Amino acid sequence: MDVLKSSNIGYPRIGEDREWKRTLEAYWAGTLNETEFMAQLEAIRLGNLQKQRDQGIDIIPVNDFTLYDQMLDMSVMFGLVPERYSAYKGGTVPLSVYYSMARGNKDEVASEMTKWFNTNYHYIVPELKESQLTLTENKPLAAYREAKEKLGIDTKPVIVGPYTFISLSKGYEKSDLPAIILSLLPLYTKILRELEQEGVKWVQIDEPSLVSSLSKDEMKTVTYLYEKLNEAVPNLNIMLQTYFDAVEHYQEVIDLPVQGIGLDLVHDKGKNLSNLQTVGFPQDKILGAGVIDGKNIWLSDLTKKIKLVESITKHVAEDRIWLQPSCSLLHVPVTVRNETELASEVKEALAFADEKLEEITLLVRGNNEGPESIEEKVTANKAAWQTLNNSKARNHKDVQSAVEQAKQQSHGRTLPFKQRYQKQQAYFNLPFLPTTTIGSFPQTAEVKQARGKFKRGEWTADQYEAFVNEEIGRWIDIQEEIGLDVLVHGEFERTDMVEFFGHKLGGFVFLEKGWVQSYGSRCVKPPVIYGDVHFIDPMTVKESVYAQALTKKTVKGMLTGPVTILNWSFVRDDISRENICYQLALALKQEVEALESAGIKMIQVDEPALREGLPLKKSDRDEYLNWAVHSFLISTSSVEDTTQIHTHMCYCDFNSFMDVISSLDADVISIETSRSHGELASAFEEKTYEKGIGLGVYDIHSPRVPAVEEMVDMIERGIKVLDKDQFWINPDCGLKTRGVPETVASLKNMVEAATVVRNKLLVQQEND
Ligand code: GLN
Ligand code: ZN
Repeated sequence: MDVLKSSNIGYPRIGEDREWKRTLEAYWAGTLNETEFMAQLEAIRLGNLQKQRDQGIDIIPVNDFTLYDQMLDMSVMFGLVPERYSAYKGGTVPLSVYYSMARGNKDEVASEMTKWFNTNYHYIVPELKESQLTLTENKPLAAYREAKEKLGIDTKPVIVGPYTFISLSKGYEKSDLPAIILSLLPLYTKILRELEQEGVKWVQIDEPSLVSSLSKDEMKTVTYLYEKLNEAVPNLNIMLQTYFDAVEHYQEVIDLPVQGIGLDLVHDKGKNLSNLQTVGFPQDKILGAGVIDGKNIWLSDLTKKIKLVESITKHVAEDRIWLQPSCSLLHVPVTVRNETELASEVKEALAFADEKLEEITLLVRGNNEGPESIEEKVTANKAAWQTLNNSKARNHKDVQSAVEQAKQQSHGRTLPFKQRYQKQQAYFNLPFLPTTTIGSFPQTAEVKQARGKFKRGEWTADQYEAFVNEEIGRWIDIQEEIGLDVLVHGEFERTDMVEFFGHKLGGFVFLEKGWVQSYGSRCVKPPVIYGDVHFIDPMTVKESVYAQALTKKTVKGMLTGPVTILNWSFVRDDISRENICYQLALALKQEVEALESAGIKMIQVDEPALREGLPLKKSDRDEYLNWAVHSFLISTSSVEDTTQIHTHMCYCDFNSFMDVISSLDADVISIETSRSHGELASAFEEKTYEKGIGLGVYDIHSPRVPAVEEMVDMIERGIKVLDKDQFWINPDCGLKTRGVPETVASLKNMVEAATVVRNKLLVQQEND
């Protein structure tokens, strides 16, 4: 009989209650030995497989589990251990070395970590050295055997494909690429041969890089790679899995000599589907149809999904279709079952990993056994959607019309930068090379304890507020004593720069167990934007005003920008991201205005996540940047000429981003650059940037106290390419993760460095 199958392409590893995280951390802390550690992880791993089997998933992945990160697993499988990890002597990579690469140890720094495509998952960047390439073990084979022996499940091992692996690696020259490909291919071949000999039927090879803007020539490399792999394992079926967007070269991809192609039919902007309909899909291949959103937390609209499946089955025979999530379920929490406090209108409309798998099996059943078989579920699904869509939260007509209006208008400051900056300089009367910080001061154990007491109800709101005020007061004194020019209140009242605002704005809810892995054992619980976002009451005015009353110096107000709140939340999917961003922008505009009327005339609106929201395809980027920049302008441009808007971003690669930064039209921007100072300075050699700018003069990610001379050097390098009158002096990011002593010592040195440079420049001027 012609029937659809259900398949999964990756399951969250962290467990319903973050058991995985706790197990890792217990091992690192030495409370578990290696044997106990491995046994506990095995239990979690097998539990995850059993769950998928019990759900009725036909094709279950293995080797999606990891002891830290799937890219790191590939690196160690290939023997790619950088030489600085001196304990490694070749062969299978011991756990201690594995974790040194992931986390560093007391003598050796960790490997670089970066974002996995457009998700909030971070992987360890492989350092690819052709000379080191050797197969140290076959992890997917071990995972396959384990599932077969322990549970009797015939699974589908998953690995990261060679093209994506190479694309995401660093440490080689473009010209070395052919040689690298030639030395990597035999290793992939060996892995696959061993799987083939074992009797594995399907292997999933992940190639998400095929959705990026790769060239035709690069696509030729992909074809070459898969020709070789297919030749090597004629009896092993390869499911070439793509996700996060439409494949860039559809025809070439479907022509690859593999037995299955996995396509994302949710985040493809309709392109994969329309290619499927117009170009077709080969008769001899399986289609992995990614119909359920693997990245968002909402229930699917089953009626729409049934239609989607119908339109696919018109073009591909049913026995050649696997229904699956659009990407690994790694990016969503495990199950809605454990959310006990949510309003039912929200809870009923959520679907995390387990519920998404259920949706897949429902769609499969509806197709194979007829629509009546799932009628009840479809009716319930419709009702859940209707309830949420009709809820008050989603029907703030005033918010919606304000968005429509704001979209039509252009927003900008009244005066061009140069003129208003002059006015601001007169108003604030700061020395040149003014010193400041990025906002947060150390969140010490006491700060966290106080928040805990307040949350548990042991402290009243007044008690908590008194505590926060005391901290603010203490740090105003410390900042004055250090001699900083522009002060901040320290952000002691905030756990997290997005969550804090979510709690104060309308339209948000919070999950109890909605954790997703961010990197290694670190999990985050993003707020959920489920309704129209709106301003309720001032959110930051009280603390800023309190701080300002304690000092004659300027206190800088501190907000998180609309784009960052959007990018670091789970967002509703019934309206566009653009519109959600505008809603946020309008709400934050009210906060900026509230601060201004309360006498806070310098306001920083942080946008550290603006860059990371950039779409994977070059052709989609302008659209995103247009509404992202417009949103920032909406929030920040209604202020008086003398009110100074700051912004902050943290990442290194600014060279290609200077125009965007400039179009935000912030009077001052501070950026994280201390780890790539030289590179950034070169960006300014080519392009002129005229606004205020603080290139972080020291790296806050390490407890090390930088010496005065080091920072003098940094500043002098900066003012070689930038005017001294536009240059600000600050650390490269917030200080909340640092200890107090090192923070105070570092800032003292920073202020001292500013003074040294100022004096040198003054002497020079006199001599000129
Ligand atoms: N103002 C924030 C802080 O200092 C900025 C944090 C960030 O850039 N991620 O903590
Ligand atoms: Zn930062």
